[in-house]
Amino acid sequence: MLIFIFILGLLIGSFLNVVIYRLPRGESIVFPASHCPECGHQLGALELIPVVSYLFLQGKCRACASKIAVTYPLIELTTALIFVLNYLYLENLTVLLAGLIFSSLLIALTVIDYQKQILPDKLTLGGLIVGLFLAFFRSDLAMGQAILGLLAGGGFLLILAYLSKGGIGGGDIKMMAMVGSFAGPVIAVTAIFLAAVLALLFALPGIFKGKLQLKSKLPFGPFLAAASLLLWFWEDIFFHFYLNLFI
Ligand SMILES: [Zn+2]
Repeated sequence: MLIFIFILGLLIGSFLNVVIYRLPRGESIVFPASHCPECGHQLGALELIPVVSYLFLQGKCRACASKIAVTYPLIELTTALIFVLNYLYLENLTVLLAGLIFSSLLIALTVIDYQKQILPDKLTLGGLIVGLFLAFFRSDLAMGQAILGLLAGGGFLLILAYLSKGGIGGGDIKMMAMVGSFAGPVIAVTAIFLAAVLALLFALPGIFKGKLQLKSKLPFGPFLAAASLLLWFWEDIFFHFYLNLFI
């Protein structure tokens, strides 16, 4: 089962690569078939095997030998590992399904925001609808919790966006509403705090070296996604740690 989940993760990771490349460019996810972005060479079945094809082709297109970005196999591997974590932490099948979809959305959003500084509505609002729909079937999250999560995650960030006057984008707000619909209000709101801490830790070395100023624009989406996933798996550990700090 573990191997099955890992392979499923590789395949979904491969699909996420297509989403990540095509969605911000306004291209169809389904057509045309996967091809080299440099020469248009259409990939055959043997060139579409996650990770393996990349290694076999030594990171180059078979037709024009232009370099294939190492992010492709990395995203496939990351997705596979996060899928395995979901399997290990979530026993129940509907919860697992929610976890796999939630993780996939966060991975795609992270990379797209990092590369293009946008969080597409198709993933944030589309994901939100899926999150609400799944709440009908989940044993761990009632529909009320999902709706409360949506309002809390989106609403809290909306207030912060208003207070910070433009530091936080609409995409971030919609993304955290989506997170709330999958993970409930506690994780959604805590993730916003954790993301701010992660972003600060990430930016500190640059600020000290003078390369990065406090006002430098840093996409917040990847930090929100990382914080949401960390809490999705290790909410208990974080709360114990936090309580131990103060009590
Ligand atoms: Zn090529």
